[in-house]
Amino acid sequence: MNCPECKGKLEVHRMCRRVRMRCTECRKEFQIHEVASELDQETEEILERYTAIIYD
Ligand SMILES: [Zn+2]
Repeated sequence: MNCPECKGKLEVHRMCRRVRMRCTECRKEFQIHEVASELDQETEEILERYTAIIYD
């Protein structure tokens, strides 16, 4: 999926107990709920591995 700001590629970025989506271009981080409506299949499968993590 792509960054809403610059259309760069977003990657899943895990920190301690949280998961963010981070843009590989502009380095901006997004909370999952901010981009939830745009999640693609690939990203959803990655996030499924983090089911214990709170989507804050
Ligand atoms: Zn970006």
